[in-house]
Amino acid sequence: MRNTNDSKLSSWVSAANDPSCDFPIQNLPYGVFRRGDMPGEPWRVGVAIGDQVLDLAGAHMSGLFKSTPIEEHNVFAIAGLNSLMMQGRPVWTAVRERISELLDASKPILRDNASLRKKIMIPLDEIENMMPMAVLDYTDFYASAHHATNVGKMFRPDGDPLLPNYKHLPVGYHGRASSLCVSGVPVRRPMGQTKADDADMPTFGPCRLLDYELEMGYVVGSGNELGTRVSIDKWRDHLFGMVILNDWSARDIQKWEYQPLGPFNAKNFCSTISPWVVTLDALTPFAAGPPARSPEDPKNLDYLNPPGESFDVTLEVLIQSKQMEEKDMAPVRVSIGSLKDMYWTCAQMLAHHTSTGCNMRPGDLLGSGTVSGPAEESRGCLLERTWRGANPIQLPTGEERKFLADGDTVIMRGWCERDGFRKIGFGECSGEILAAE
Ligand code: MN
Repeated sequence: MRNTNDSKLSSWVSAANDPSCDFPIQNLPYGVFRRGDMPGEPWRVGVAIGDQVLDLAGAHMSGLFKSTPIEEHNVFAIAGLNSLMMQGRPVWTAVRERISELLDASKPILRDNASLRKKIMIPLDEIENMMPMAVLDYTDFYASAHHATNVGKMFRPDGDPLLPNYKHLPVGYHGRASSLCVSGVPVRRPMGQTKADDADMPTFGPCRLLDYELEMGYVVGSGNELGTRVSIDKWRDHLFGMVILNDWSARDIQKWEYQPLGPFNAKNFCSTISPWVVTLDALTPFAAGPPARSPEDPKNLDYLNPPGESFDVTLEVLIQSKQMEEKDMAPVRVSIGSLKDMYWTCAQMLAHHTSTGCNMRPGDLLGSGTVSGPAEESRGCLLERTWRGANPIQLPTGEERKFLADGDTVIMRGWCERDGFRKIGFGECSGEILAAE
């Protein structure tokens, strides 16, 4: 067994050894790509390493996965990670070990084969990504008690900010998989029905309160049969990895439509994910134990115990307006927080979601809900960050933002850092707002 998280490992891809790089040899995130200048080329699975991509479909065809469990089956030669996901955790780990060997500075197999390298190593700036997996179902949770409390205070000022169920179960709703997009795809401002508090009748028009939600997307690898449950202690067998997720939200539409069945058109026009799936194997050194609980918090029912792990992933949001872009001004950070501040874990989401016998399938996506912490700067959406527009964000051009304007680009980044381990990055999840049509 090879320790693929060992901080002493280095790669013959020199950019991967830079401590600030998102994609060191300890990361090895998977994505689906093709060369940008060769649109006829098939989409296929690759792994990001330093400033390059290793074409895994090509590596398999060149015999580099001989004597591994996928020797007979090129799971990388399709436009999605779903085939690899279906193989299950022991195969995921074996494949990761092999890729780690292929890219290891001390192993000659690819390092010393210049002609093969030329065929299957491609600079990251020459590729385009598509969705890393076919997502059949997408569910969005609401796992930050800080976020739920803030939103409750704004949407229901007269009641308890947290509804009575909040600390007993991870609240979620079934989202829309068809409008999931990969980073870089522009986001059209939605049209919708809204009603002003002082108006008698609703109106239809462009959303006026367009927002982002900073989330982690948990990617299911192994599913479960309809009618069976995923026991909470088996969560590692099912969770393949994580991506950054931007759950774009139309707040004015949401406010009018969300009761009694929850969000609908306020959320279904687009959700964006980062292109590289960072595996649970790469994230294991950054597991942060179960989420903190205070003595007043209720005990979880047995099926939600033990809670599994939260992960110390730092997440930030940056905005660049059209004016900033034209003046060559860099995007500015508007928030920074950590996934470890969430009340519910991915393990609890999986156990709760399947507790009825609902089946998960390889590639299913579970959104964490907006990642907000206790500090103001860690609030993961503009609704909270500007307190519904009461404290606008000041941009370096002198512009201010209560909610998003047309031409704004929202960029989310995430990474893990810990003494003794290499930084593991998620890359970027970005999208530019286009005017409503
Ligand atoms: Mn959400």
